[in-house]
Amino acid sequence: MSAARQILALNRFEGGDKAGFEAGLQERLARREATFGAASVLFYEQPIEMVRGHGVHLYDAAGAEYLDMYNNVPSVGHSHPHVVSAIAAQAARLNIHTRYLTRPVEDYATRLLAQFPAPLTNLVMTCTGSESNDLAMRIAKAVTGAGGFIVTRAAYHGNTETVTAISPSSFTAAAAAAHVRLISAPAASGDVAGQFVAELRAAIADLQASGIGFAALVVDSIFSSDGIFADPAGFLQPALDAVHEAGGLFIADEVQPGFGRTGMMWGFARHGLVPDIVTMGKPMGNGFPMGGVVTRPEFLARFCQETGYFNTFGGNPVAAAAGEAVLDVIEEEGLIENAAATGALLQEGLLGLQKEFARIGGVRGAGLFLGLDFCDPDSGAPDQPMASHVINVLRQKFILIGAAGLYGHTLKIRPPLCFRPLHAGWFLERLREVLRAA
Ligand code: PMP
Repeated sequence: MSAARQILALNRFEGGDKAGFEAGLQERLARREATFGAASVLFYEQPIEMVRGHGVHLYDAAGAEYLDMYNNVPSVGHSHPHVVSAIAAQAARLNIHTRYLTRPVEDYATRLLAQFPAPLTNLVMTCTGSESNDLAMRIAKAVTGAGGFIVTRAAYHGNTETVTAISPSSFTAAAAAAHVRLISAPAASGDVAGQFVAELRAAIADLQASGIGFAALVVDSIFSSDGIFADPAGFLQPALDAVHEAGGLFIADEVQPGFGRTGMMWGFARHGLVPDIVTMGKPMGNGFPMGGVVTRPEFLARFCQETGYFNTFGGNPVAAAAGEAVLDVIEEEGLIENAAATGALLQEGLLGLQKEFARIGGVRGAGLFLGLDFCDPDSGAPDQPMASHVINVLRQKFILIGAAGLYGHTLKIRPPLCFRPLHAGWFLERLREVLRAA
C-alpha cells in the first residue's frame, strides 16, 4: 500500500544536498533556513529565484522563461496590465477599511453577486481563502447548532486553527479531530455519485451518534488536493440532498475552481447545485490578497446575532478594484470559453499520451484543471517517485508543474487561464520527451 503524502512535502527542496550549488545560492539558502526556519518551504531539488511574470510565463534571475502550469493565483495571467493599473490607480486615490461608504466596493459587490444563483445575495469580504473557510465554518455552526464537519481525505481548506482541522493534507502526525470525519475522494469511475453519498451518509450518521452533530460538508468541487475529480458532471447532487436531509449545510470552497477555471464561472455549477455557503480566494484578485464568503442573508444574520465580524483589510477599495479588473479580463478575453476549449484540447493530448505510455494510469479533469496519474504499469499502484521525477525534469525544460492526490502521484495541471493551444502543444511535446527518456 502506498503511503499518504502531506501536500506541502511534495516537490519540496529538502535542504540537504547543497554541495553542487554555486556559492551564492548556497549562502542564500543557508540564510533563508536561518531566517524562516522550519516553516519555510521551497520548490524543487534546485530552488529558483523568480524576478518577473507575464501572462503564462515566469522569468528567473538569469532571464530564463518558464511556462507556468502550476499557478491558479495569477489566474488571468501574471502581472496582467489591466489588473495592475486598476490596483495602482485605486491605491493612489484611496485605500481604507470597510466602515465608510466607498463606490469601488459597492460596485464590485453588485457585480460579483450577479454571478451567483438567486438565494446567495450576501457577500463578506476577507483577505484569504483560509479566512473565508474559517468564517463559513462559524456560520455553519451558528445556523445548525452542531459542531461536526465532513471533508475528503486529502482535502486542503486553509491554515487557521479551525480550518487546519478540516485540512487533512496538512496533517503531519496528527489524527483528525473528534469533530471531523474524513471520507474518500470521489472514485475515478463506476458509480461515483453513489459511492460518495454512501460514505457521506455514514459519516453524517457517525457525527450524529457521537452527539457532536453535523454542521456541514466542505468540498472543493474540483477536488484539487485529492487528485482532481470532475466527472460525471452532477455527481455531487445526491451529496447536497443528503446534507440537507440531515439538517446540515453544503459549503462549496471555490478557492481553486472558482472564477472560470473549469470552463464555468464556478465549480459547483458543473454539478448543477446551489450551495448554502460559497468561499473564494486566490484567483479573485489575481495575486492581490482577497477572499470572500457568499451566503443567504438569513444565515449571515443568524451568525451575526452571536458575533460581529470585522476584517480590517477585507473589502478595502484596492481589493475591490483588483477584483473588478479580474472580472473585466475574464469577460473581455473570453477566459471561461478558453478554459473550456483549450482545456479540452489539452485533455485530448494527455489521453493520447496515455495510449503511448503505460505508466500513465489515468487522465481527468475539467477546463484548465487536469490531473494525470502515474502508476506502476503492472500493479496499477500509485507511482509517486515518477511524479517527482517528471516534475523535476520538466523544470529543467522550463516548465513549472506540481503534484496532488493522497499519494502524491497525480500531476496537477493548472496553468493561468490565458493558456492557449500553442502553449498546450509545447507542454505536450516536452512531457512526451520526459516520458520517452524515463
Ligand atoms: N481552499 C483551497 C481549496 C485551497 O487550495 C486553499 C489554498 N491552497 C485555501 C482554501 C486557502 O487559501 P489561502 O492560502 O488563501 O488562505
